[in-house]
Amino acid sequence: MNSKKSDLLRKPVKYLKGVGEARARLFEKLGINNLEDLITYYPREYDDRRGLKTIAELKDGDFCVFRAVPVTAVSETKPRHNLTIQKVLLKDETGAVIATWFNRTYLKRTLVQGKTYLFYGQVKRLNRTLQVQNPEFEEYDEENQAEMCKILPIYASTAGLTQKVFRKTVATALKMVDMQLEEYLPGWLRTNYYLSEINFSIYNIHFPKDEMSFQNARYRLVFEELLMLQLGLLLIKEAAGGTRKGIAFGHTEQVKEFLNTLPYELTNAQMRSLNEIITDMQSEKAMNRLLQGDVGSGKTVVAAAAIYLAIVNGYQGAMMAPTEILAEQHYQTLTKLFENFDIHIELLTGSMSKKQKQEAIGNISGGKANIIVGTHALIQEGVEFHRLGLVVTDEQHRFGVRQRALLSQKGENPDVLVMTATPIPRTLALILYGDLDISIIDELPPGRKPVKTYVVNNSMRERVNNFIRKKVGEGRQVYIVCPLVDESDAIEARSAIEMAENIAANDFSDLRVGLIHGKLSSKEKEQTMKLFAEGKIDILVSTTVIEVGVNVPNATVMVVEDAERFGLAQLHQLRGRVGRGDHQSYCILYNESNNEISRQRMEIMAKTNNGFVIAEKDLEIRGPGEFFGTRQHGIPQLKIANLYKDLDILKKAQQAAFEIMNNRHNQKNEETNRFLEEVTAHFNEKLKELSLT
Ligand code: ADP
Ligand code: MG
Repeated sequence: MNSKKSDLLRKPVKYLKGVGEARARLFEKLGINNLEDLITYYPREYDDRRGLKTIAELKDGDFCVFRAVPVTAVSETKPRHNLTIQKVLLKDETGAVIATWFNRTYLKRTLVQGKTYLFYGQVKRLNRTLQVQNPEFEEYDEENQAEMCKILPIYASTAGLTQKVFRKTVATALKMVDMQLEEYLPGWLRTNYYLSEINFSIYNIHFPKDEMSFQNARYRLVFEELLMLQLGLLLIKEAAGGTRKGIAFGHTEQVKEFLNTLPYELTNAQMRSLNEIITDMQSEKAMNRLLQGDVGSGKTVVAAAAIYLAIVNGYQGAMMAPTEILAEQHYQTLTKLFENFDIHIELLTGSMSKKQKQEAIGNISGGKANIIVGTHALIQEGVEFHRLGLVVTDEQHRFGVRQRALLSQKGENPDVLVMTATPIPRTLALILYGDLDISIIDELPPGRKPVKTYVVNNSMRERVNNFIRKKVGEGRQVYIVCPLVDESDAIEARSAIEMAENIAANDFSDLRVGLIHGKLSSKEKEQTMKLFAEGKIDILVSTTVIEVGVNVPNATVMVVEDAERFGLAQLHQLRGRVGRGDHQSYCILYNESNNEISRQRMEIMAKTNNGFVIAEKDLEIRGPGEFFGTRQHGIPQLKIANLYKDLDILKKAQQAAFEIMNNRHNQKNEETNRFLEEVTAHFNEKLKELSLT
């Protein structure tokens, strides 16, 4: 909201009527400290209680409000120790209904026979009689009726804070700020995009007067939130030097020489992406492109072709990976791809000896190295490039914007290509990676056998173990993935260490069991991976350190313990570790949860191998916050917008953001500039982080 916050909005909630210290602490748990936090804490859903019903109109399953009179005294039975049941017969001029409550002994005193009340609750038909269970009630009068027959907000609350108290507190706060919120969206924007006024919107998002008011309020608030996000991204892009002037590469026809040496043809999707990359590289604008493609879709070879173009232009190409294992693997892949060319590839990782490093650094700065492959070590001090023209980074989510920017400073504005296997629907990617252009490889090379996926539970462990044994007997290898390394009270996930020791001592005592997890040094990890790749380990027990990019084609079984704890995108990545060779591969997901959402999610994994479909479904079921893990992406947690459901609004907000950015230096548009100043202030921390001086 407004950066020039009034004192009113900063007022701590504890001073609100009916709150106090104890309740204030509960609100604090929800991130609500002051009045502004409270009124921008939007309802999770709504309870539509409009329309007073007559008893004759009550239907099984309905939640509704009706007006009735208790025609009997409250009767009480005690079927069990600790349980009392209160009953009373209610009547209006159209019929009768029985109201029942549990353990409300006080009702005998408070509910008066013959008086008229308003009741609210769920109607149930039991043995042909209508009942309403645990209804709320108020004495009937006009005011109470208006109060009760409303669309009521339901908040994501915390233990000890009832919806009733929550609503009352929000209502109190709204009364205090009534019509005093300052409108800060520029007038032209509100007119052009049909955005309702701020006071109206805030009020009606909590207590909608009717459907239409709610829709208008929500539209404005969602729009505003997404607009801020968009503007933030655009400002960040600007701060990171988004539209820098770069190198205009030539000789693009020579890329064919490289493609002709491949034992296969590029897929259409690979070809299309490569052409997009080449077009960028040709232009003198610096490239900032994201190459998105499912696991195994063949991103590496596309990147290699781009690197080749840089080399024929006399530049160096760098390839960065998030882990040493992956850097090593890229090094090997590139060595193989360029074996017919006179191209020198240099590997630089943190674990190399000082002498090795010095030699590598010499080759890099001297220009002997055409391609440099490495980890973060590449952007650490001391590495000077001879003539860096293209930077490829693998697995974008492990590198921040800042790291990318740092690396690109190491040359004369090299082109940047970011590869990621985290599939995101295109529209969404456009927004989240607002600072990048996007190419998508949405097709796998021909002839791949889809991985067969099965969801199992513990009762099938013996069968699964027999299956593993059979596959190892056929010469294949197996991954078993556990969620955590250390035992944690909070999450009862099996620890990888325990698991490895356990199966090596019992079920698989005759097989070669290996263990890999994040607490091992990279040298230890590498050694184990090497043994596995050489076929000297049958079963590799692991945490998610093997998630990204590891390539052992002989491994055909992926077992994931407590699979429901993983994100779908992550499970998909794990599954991508198998199905890389000629043999049929299998993914076995252990799921002990009976929870409906878990069940749905596991079903999706079993049903499809398409990463984009999986990503979309996961978004649909869980929402983007959990899907991305907000920390990873630095995208602020959204308060009201749903990136999946609100895509249409998102597109409009994006358009508006461009308009605002284009309008800003226009002197006549003071209102817009003032707004943009506020947005900038809002994102200031982030922008500071990015200023690289
Ligand atoms: P990812 O996109 O997961 O990084 P890779 O680049 O590792 O995928 O490619 C996976 C495998 O597919 C590699 O073994 C690669 O040689 C092979 N490959 C890539 N493109 C093609 C293609 N067009 N036809 C056949 N195989 C291909
Ligand atoms: Mg890869």
